[in-house]
Amino acid sequence: MSTYLIKAGRVVDPATTTDLVGDVLIADGTISEVGAGLEDKDAEVIDATGAVVAPGLVDMHTHLREPGREDEETIATASAGAAAGGYTAICAMPNTDPVQDSAAIVEKVWALGRETNLVEVVPAGALSKGLKGEQMADLGEMANSYAKVRLFTDDGRGVQDALFARRAMEYLNAFDAIYAEHCEVEALAAGGQMHEGERSYKLGLRGIPSEAEELMAARDIALAKLTGCRLHLLHISTAGTIELVRRAKAEGVAVTAEATPHHFTLTDAALEGYDPMTKVNPPLRAESDRAAVIEGLADGTIDAIATDHAPHATEEKDQEFSYAPPGLLGLETALALTLTELVEPGHLSVAQAIERLSSAPSRILGLDGQGTLEPGSPAHLVVFDPAARWTVDPGAFRSKSRNTPFAGRTLTGRVSHTFFHGRPTVRDSEVVTEALV
Ligand SMILES: [Zn+2]
Ligand SMILES: [Zn+2]
Repeated sequence: MSTYLIKAGRVVDPATTTDLVGDVLIADGTISEVGAGLEDKDAEVIDATGAVVAPGLVDMHTHLREPGREDEETIATASAGAAAGGYTAICAMPNTDPVQDSAAIVEKVWALGRETNLVEVVPAGALSKGLKGEQMADLGEMANSYAKVRLFTDDGRGVQDALFARRAMEYLNAFDAIYAEHCEVEALAAGGQMHEGERSYKLGLRGIPSEAEELMAARDIALAKLTGCRLHLLHISTAGTIELVRRAKAEGVAVTAEATPHHFTLTDAALEGYDPMTKVNPPLRAESDRAAVIEGLADGTIDAIATDHAPHATEEKDQEFSYAPPGLLGLETALALTLTELVEPGHLSVAQAIERLSSAPSRILGLDGQGTLEPGSPAHLVVFDPAARWTVDPGAFRSKSRNTPFAGRTLTGRVSHTFFHGRPTVRDSEVVTEALV
């Protein structure tokens, strides 16, 4: 196996509290040494002067669309997009067709990820059979399968029945798994197209009130307290939800939360032109909510930045706003949006950004050897130029879909190399396709 010496980069690893200008030596697929002035005459040298060298990014929330909608995305194309974006692990959401609600399906997704071998594909399991919110899925069977499912969710829908939520938490508690919620009370959100507020009245679109998210977040926090189950709140988007999480954490409730790049970058002002690319669930919120998301990420109330990468076919997304499905791509823009919107303006340090994008999600998911540059760990890492400017061109995405509201936007920060198990999956900003075989 090849040996690589990444020279003279700024090595940032929150997991080992490392932040130094130095070198990383990769041998036999693992990180063999981190420090200044390393030498190895057999190694291929990668000059990282001016670049940041960090643990590979970990996305807690990715829709891979396979099985079922391979026309929109496959495990292979999502993995390639993830590698291009600096990721070395992605958590596959279960709302596929068939739904990831049994050991057979999660094992299939896991095996397809292994076959592609560009990132670690970590399948999440559904809480309910067919995501119907009625009968509990085979949670224990999925947890004990070789896919070792640790995160369970009906994402795409919130669990509407409080008793079902309680029972699922009690059950998951037995094997220290995570109950993850898409917080949305359907009775309040039904038919909604965008955030409810002044702008929804002005645009004449039906609104989704913040309370649709906050009521379910409050219920789940109460149930997590009751059951002792680990709770993870997906894509939180309102100032009220963030305050609930802040208080719950202060009380010692085992709750974690994630937010998406689009919720810290855009507001409902982006909907003025009725562009279906801006339609997403939860919806883009008010400026005060966007500011609260940034504050939550800065003070650690929000643990992780997750993409909610949601590919959609062009013919479905590109129609009248009210008919377009919600969701947008995230894997290939998340790091640059974080650097542009959070690090450049001084809200987060580079180390905090890496913590939210890599170390924290890896820790929450309990992934072995991800989210750290600790010598001896598998060499999963990213090298990026934090100052490089580039313009988002959806045509250049590795993802199979094109639905992004960021087309044409100039961002700061570009991935030059990604390593997965000590092998470059991205070299000089190009995905290494030989890695596919
Ligand atoms: Zn969701
Ligand atoms: Zn989702």
